[in-house]
Amino acid sequence: MRKINQGLVCLLTAFLCAASLSLPASAQETVPVQPVQPSARPTQPVQPAARPTQPVQPVQPGGSRGNTARDRGAFYNPRTDNPQRRSIQNTQTQASDMTSASDRPVITDQTEPYEDKIILKWKQVEGASGYEIFRSQKETGTYTKVKSISGAATVEWTDENLKKGETYYYKIRAYRESGGKKTYGKFSNIYKKGKAGWVYKDNEKLYYDSQGKLVTDVSSLIGEQSSYVLMVNKQENVVTVYAKDGGTDALIPVKAFICATGEDTPTGTFYTPQKYRWLLLVGPCYGQWCTGIQGDILFHSSPYKTQDNKDLDVAEYNKLGTTCSHGCVRLKAGDAKWIYDNCAVNTQVVIYNSSDPGPLGKPEAEQLDASHTWDPTDPNMSSECQKRHCH
Ligand SMILES: [Zn+2]
Repeated sequence: MRKINQGLVCLLTAFLCAASLSLPASAQETVPVQPVQPSARPTQPVQPAARPTQPVQPVQPGGSRGNTARDRGAFYNPRTDNPQRRSIQNTQTQASDMTSASDRPVITDQTEPYEDKIILKWKQVEGASGYEIFRSQKETGTYTKVKSISGAATVEWTDENLKKGETYYYKIRAYRESGGKKTYGKFSNIYKKGKAGWVYKDNEKLYYDSQGKLVTDVSSLIGEQSSYVLMVNKQENVVTVYAKDGGTDALIPVKAFICATGEDTPTGTFYTPQKYRWLLLVGPCYGQWCTGIQGDILFHSSPYKTQDNKDLDVAEYNKLGTTCSHGCVRLKAGDAKWIYDNCAVNTQVVIYNSSDPGPLGKPEAEQLDASHTWDPTDPNMSSECQKRHCH
């Protein structure tokens, strides 16, 4: 292998061979972009903002009707009902017998999807002596009683220390105690912990899936945006793409790229001046999908030995995620292309240092073997990976 790495600096050579460049039309446009002031990386403890929309399950009316015979009729009668109906697995049969909704707890909760607890709330059941709460990790699985509450007025319970990323289902039933015997009301709706949704945290808008996991690429959720801000964490070698959140001040972290910066990467705020499909860089080496940042500092793919998608410098590619460039911000080819395709000239770039990689974290680096002389994220080379069944 040629020892070209030592001379690898991401400076444009003074002489750029015209044949090695193809200047996209967009590079010559000046697109007016409203400068966006990205908030500094959050340093304060995260305080979830008020939930934008309260997920309130409709509550059936009926509380004002009093303790009528009709209400009581929904309770299990041990003398006339089949005892099997007391088993948890047969709740569907029980529910289908329901004639009144007023004695059936309806669960709501007020927890964010990422929290490792759930605060269950339900509507008070008239005539109840208390409630029993059941939990399962499968909707149709066996539910285990996790809490028994005495008193009709206690209509809230917090299940603490749940595991993040796990799914939990709950149902509640009221019971009435009379003469030492318990009779049971119908089970509530089955309530699944975790609803996918947006959460505002520290002036950033994040999306969590139904299992409480942060979604680290929301580009398909928010669709194409008219402008982005590129935040480069030089210290951690992460680029986080931000979009504006409509009329609010918040910013949406859209996706994060692993990158390789260098000691000479400047910090500050810049506006991208131009783009190049391929660019001859000092080394000599070549970069794909190059977007200027300032002067001779650019975003570009990991370097190639020649202007050929099949001539990736694998050793350099395997350094992504470390500080190894001579100033440019190297990216995976697919990520460099994303910036090239989606960020118009004059896009704001903020380069900063922080030990916090960013709200979406740092994507993992991938090591290629020496024979994989193309970038697996280069869409022009996907057929090669398909042939080898490697990506
Ligand atoms: Zn591959």
